[in-house]
Amino acid sequence: MPTYHLAIDDTDSLRMGCTTYVGALIVERLLPEARFVDYPNLIRLNPNVPWKSRGNAAVCLRFSSARTEGEILELAASIVEENRDRLDGKNQPGIALLEGEVPPQVKEFGRRALFDVLSLEEAYRVAAQSKIGFRTIRGGRGLIGAVAAIGNTLEADHTFELIVYRKRDAWGSPRKVDAESVRSMDKETAPHTFNNIDPETNRILITPHGPDPILFGIRGESPGVVIDALGKLVFEEGEKWIIYRSNQGTDAHMINRPKISSLTPYQAAVIEGAVSKKPVTLRGGHTIVEVADGSGCIDAAAYQQSGDIERAARALLPGDIVRVYGGVRVLDEGEAGGKLTLNLERLDVLELVDSVKRNPLCPRCGVRMKAKGRNKGFECEKCGKKSESPVIENIPRQVRKGTYLPPPRSLRHLAKPPRRLGLEKLSWDGTVGRFFGSLNPQHPAEDPRL
Ligand code: ATP
Repeated sequence: MPTYHLAIDDTDSLRMGCTTYVGALIVERLLPEARFVDYPNLIRLNPNVPWKSRGNAAVCLRFSSARTEGEILELAASIVEENRDRLDGKNQPGIALLEGEVPPQVKEFGRRALFDVLSLEEAYRVAAQSKIGFRTIRGGRGLIGAVAAIGNTLEADHTFELIVYRKRDAWGSPRKVDAESVRSMDKETAPHTFNNIDPETNRILITPHGPDPILFGIRGESPGVVIDALGKLVFEEGEKWIIYRSNQGTDAHMINRPKISSLTPYQAAVIEGAVSKKPVTLRGGHTIVEVADGSGCIDAAAYQQSGDIERAARALLPGDIVRVYGGVRVLDEGEAGGKLTLNLERLDVLELVDSVKRNPLCPRCGVRMKAKGRNKGFECEKCGKKSESPVIENIPRQVRKGTYLPPPRSLRHLAKPPRRLGLEKLSWDGTVGRFFGSLNPQHPAEDPRL
């Protein structure tokens, strides 16, 4: 039986739907016949593309099947068509299907889609070169994400997310998930699950807020731990569950390390350089740090919501060496060559200026001496006392070397939370366990919690 990679993107809108849900419906239809060679993949792409609806997610399913390419594309296209938001002017679904090994040019397209802005023309070109069959609906921009999802084969670090979908008649109503059960699940499964709650505000993070089909999603290091965590939660109106393997929480988008002079809008970028001016804190609590790397300089913006990043940024001084991670934005977009800024997602403080050279104080008069010229020493203007060398004075610093991240409630899907440090994976062993089930009380055998 041939092995296929089937990917979908841009099926939803802010008003309804969710690409992972459409993915789950396709899984449900394929499962009786297909043999999955991987967990369904949930691939997050460049979070800075301006036309995403939420978290720039695409889905790829990898399986062997006796069906033909045409049959699979037809099946996927009909499920996408039935479930997309037809009233939304923005959604432009793309469905892509590759048979066999994923070729290097598709992997490369997928790698670049994590941090750069790619064109639909390039997606068509890569699809043609790689014999990827596709269907597009309306503009078909979703083909970019679909081809990129095929290319992201998650061979190194990855995480899992168990998503529970709710019954259709509950879409749009408040979610019934017991907050206390989430808090105790978090304690019992830490550090192997992440982003369950926000410790500062005690807010539950596993439930989204929109009218979409998702009841909640539990993120963790293995299929076993997310299933275990599901069994600890108290909730109502769950209908089915699926486990996705994903690049969420892996920093997969932080692989682009360009010079400042070559930055382009909406990229995700990592820049290393020196703070070139004293940071400015604006009204509203946002802090702007200018960073220079020899090729140019850029304003890095730390928003108040970024918590520790903003507090660290405002304490920086000219000469400090930093690594800044974030998304490139354009200010004054209407004007020619609009100014670029970097919205900070992470800040590494690498070196701190801890002392300054100053003119010595006159031991007799207590006033600061004047420099007599380059390498000519210093002299007191009052009494004429001379001194040969400057003095080194320590600067007390309000910031330490280290990594600064936003609180979990402001982390992007791709950002690696501190809890994952040391748990990163170097490979995947290819074992696929159970990843889909029903929560229908009429079929308790299907319920993983029993
Ligand atoms: P959700 O998270 O709810 O699934 P979304 O945030 O994924 O929604 P989409 O509606 O899928 O948003 O829109 C993202 C669009 O951006 C898609 O058309 C996708 O093909 C496109 N896209 C994804 N990555 C890139 C990229 N690197 N460059 C250009 N376009 C991209």
